[in-house]
Amino acid sequence: MKLYNTATRKLEEFKPLGDVVKIYTCGPTVYNYAHIGNFASYIYWDLLIRALKANGYKVKRVLNLTDVGHLTSDGDNGEDKLEKGARREGKSAFEVAEMYIDAYMKDFHLLNLTEPDVLARATNYVEEDMKVVDEMTKKGFTYETTDGIYYDTSKFPGYADFARLDLEGIKAGARVDFSDEKRNAADFAVWKFIQPNEKHEMRWDYLGRPGYPGWHLECSTIIQKELGEPIDIHTGGIDHIPVHHTNEIAQSYALGAHELAKYWLHCDFIMIDGQRVSKSLGNTYTLADLAERGFSPMDFKMWILQGHYQGTRNFTFDSLEAAKARRLNWRNRIALCYQREIISTGVFDKILEAVSNNLNSSEAFAIIDNSVLSLEDWKKIDKLFGLKLIEDTPDIDDGIRKMIEDRAYARALKNYAKSDEIRDKLAEKGIAVRDTADGAVWEYIK
Ligand SMILES: [Zn+2]
Repeated sequence: MKLYNTATRKLEEFKPLGDVVKIYTCGPTVYNYAHIGNFASYIYWDLLIRALKANGYKVKRVLNLTDVGHLTSDGDNGEDKLEKGARREGKSAFEVAEMYIDAYMKDFHLLNLTEPDVLARATNYVEEDMKVVDEMTKKGFTYETTDGIYYDTSKFPGYADFARLDLEGIKAGARVDFSDEKRNAADFAVWKFIQPNEKHEMRWDYLGRPGYPGWHLECSTIIQKELGEPIDIHTGGIDHIPVHHTNEIAQSYALGAHELAKYWLHCDFIMIDGQRVSKSLGNTYTLADLAERGFSPMDFKMWILQGHYQGTRNFTFDSLEAAKARRLNWRNRIALCYQREIISTGVFDKILEAVSNNLNSSEAFAIIDNSVLSLEDWKKIDKLFGLKLIEDTPDIDDGIRKMIEDRAYARALKNYAKSDEIRDKLAEKGIAVRDTADGAVWEYIK
């Protein structure tokens, strides 16, 4: 397999570190419903897992759920997103986390995404977080300010390397509200203290004061506890590169891991009608919104997999309609396998090869469009992409089979009134019959 490694900026041959490929994915902050832009990344990484498995690798995959500490600024200022969610919903922060984790996992399953081996909720790791901060402090990587414990980035000589950061530029561009207690502009909080007048429901006692972990900390802690560094593959969005992943690497360095991950994969954003996904534009569509417009989660997954994780994608409902039509076309090719003997031409290897080349699913899809495929091929394709093609395309039952025969009989007798009546009844059941030179063929209409 070949993967594009952000750490080296190169397409590299994937070589696992051990018998089991260790993968970590930065998961959602559970303070709101996840929109389709959020789910794009989890679909790409699902393909990664499936492609690794299809290539014979064993995989251990950890996905975290951020339910504390992620501030609205993505930095060290602003409100904790969970606290903000709690205020909005009139619920406790814990209830909000519970509610949105449930919603997220429901959609996760609707998208037929591979179940992570460990689903790690940040608040379940706070004891470990404290030990990690202790260790970083012991090794001289932290300092205390009025509002928290900060990581001193000057102690990590390679801090700027991963993201090719311009530290001088960051220093010059540091905002006016930049705390003058910070030693370096890039320093970040690994632990935040809760001020006496501050409302922050999620709190833990550490160093004799109430506080909570910094956002970047959980990933380092969870990786250390659940996988052990170095891991094989770390995935996330391109927005994670300059801050979140850079800080994860810095923290792990302080803990003694000179390499956090061997391969780093980052996906680009999706746009909606040429615009960023944002609440203010009213385009934060969820799977439920798509369902209201007649699109299934699998139609959306199909749309995502038509493109590449490194490309910026522009989502439109017209393009979703086209993806839906393509998926229906594939399903009807499966339906034809129930009706005619179709011999495999061994093309699945080429499909897997395309996907194994840095997850080039769009090339794989072009091969699928242009090849003769047997039912066995389709089963393998379905496993590789998780598109529920077989599940959504059952063979017809005896009742429908009888109706199709009755229709053919009526036509043979030139009783078109009768055959049209049966055709309409079949249509109500979602089945169409097409007359071809080789006889009638049934198909799904939707
Ligand atoms: Zn992370």
